[in-house]
Amino acid sequence: MVVKVAINGYGTIGKRVAHAVTLQDDMEVVGVTKTRPTYQAQMAIDKGFPFYAAAKEHVAGFKEAGFEVEGTLEDLLDVAEVVVDCTPGKKAINNVKMYNDHKVRIILQGGEAHETAGLSFNALANYEKCLGAESVRVVSCNTTGLCRTLYPIYNEKKEENEKKIGIKNVLATMVRRSADPGDSKKGPINAITPVLKIPSHHGPDVQTVIPDLNIQTLAVAVPTTIMHLHCVAVEMKRPVPAEDIIALWEKTPRVRFVKGSEGIKSTAEIMEYARDLNRDMSDMYEIIVWRDGVNTKENMLYYYQAVHQESDVVPENVDAIRAMFELEDDNMKSIAKTDRAMGIGK
Ligand code: NAD
Repeated sequence: MVVKVAINGYGTIGKRVAHAVTLQDDMEVVGVTKTRPTYQAQMAIDKGFPFYAAAKEHVAGFKEAGFEVEGTLEDLLDVAEVVVDCTPGKKAINNVKMYNDHKVRIILQGGEAHETAGLSFNALANYEKCLGAESVRVVSCNTTGLCRTLYPIYNEKKEENEKKIGIKNVLATMVRRSADPGDSKKGPINAITPVLKIPSHHGPDVQTVIPDLNIQTLAVAVPTTIMHLHCVAVEMKRPVPAEDIIALWEKTPRVRFVKGSEGIKSTAEIMEYARDLNRDMSDMYEIIVWRDGVNTKENMLYYYQAVHQESDVVPENVDAIRAMFELEDDNMKSIAKTDRAMGIGK
């Protein structure tokens, strides 16, 4: 079976999900939408994606600029089996009725509320729960990052007579990029802005995927565009040496180690590393953990991780499609298939 995928909103996330879908053998892009005749719209056409206007009112703008459109989003929904809504945050809720009327399955992104989809998704933590689902939300870049490193500790699989690690409590501080690299409108450009609502939304968001995890989060926005950085303190259920945690993450897909001692001292060197790896769009899909920044003291684990906000959720969208259409029942097999196709982990 090859699942027919529509991408509504060919922006930062949408263009990456579209590309990732083209790399898989069990799904295909049947069309993408834009609202305006920008260079990104031209790029979508040049890449050969069937191109649609996001709504009727946008058709004239495309025609005036000489762009050919196949129709509108509603026409695209007639040929799609699932729509990945990658419109800017909090807009997708207005599209849900239309999606339901066209009987397409729905994938929303982290900018939407959990309740809009009813199910939030992370391939490592709750793939099985989303098997056959009509509608899921792929959680945000930060939430994805926290799930990837916390879930293996929370749910460490052991032989029956061995004691699991488990988590009593987490305190994580998100040092957030203030805008994506292509976005010149947002700030701050010379300030550090704390999120005064405590806990920040990230902790409750992790609980939409791992409901029993006790987690508190704080967040500050800083003047950078390239990555988020998390400072994480975990109270574990028993003392564990740092080497055991590192060994656990080494077995975890989409978690990658770097070392400060080898010259990767900041997010800047991580993005340079992604370029050196010749990744598509220089993306770093894995969550990056500084190996020499992992430490434990009795029951406490401390670590830093970096999140490439534009790309870590992209393979998750691919796995979400696979879970919803039950193309693969086992999450680790889906993750491995997606990662092989996208060159993740290499
Ligand atoms: P974006 O602004 O880069 O792209 C949005 C796209 O949607 C643009 O192509 C725009 O032309 C189009 N669009 C705007 N209004 C539309 C409408 N009414 N109908 C159809 N298309 C419309 O946004 P993004 O950063 O890709 O974010 C998309 C979603 O992904 C949001 O929910 C966001 O919270 C989430 N997300 C973003 C990031 C990130 O760092 N950029 C990371 C993870 C999740």
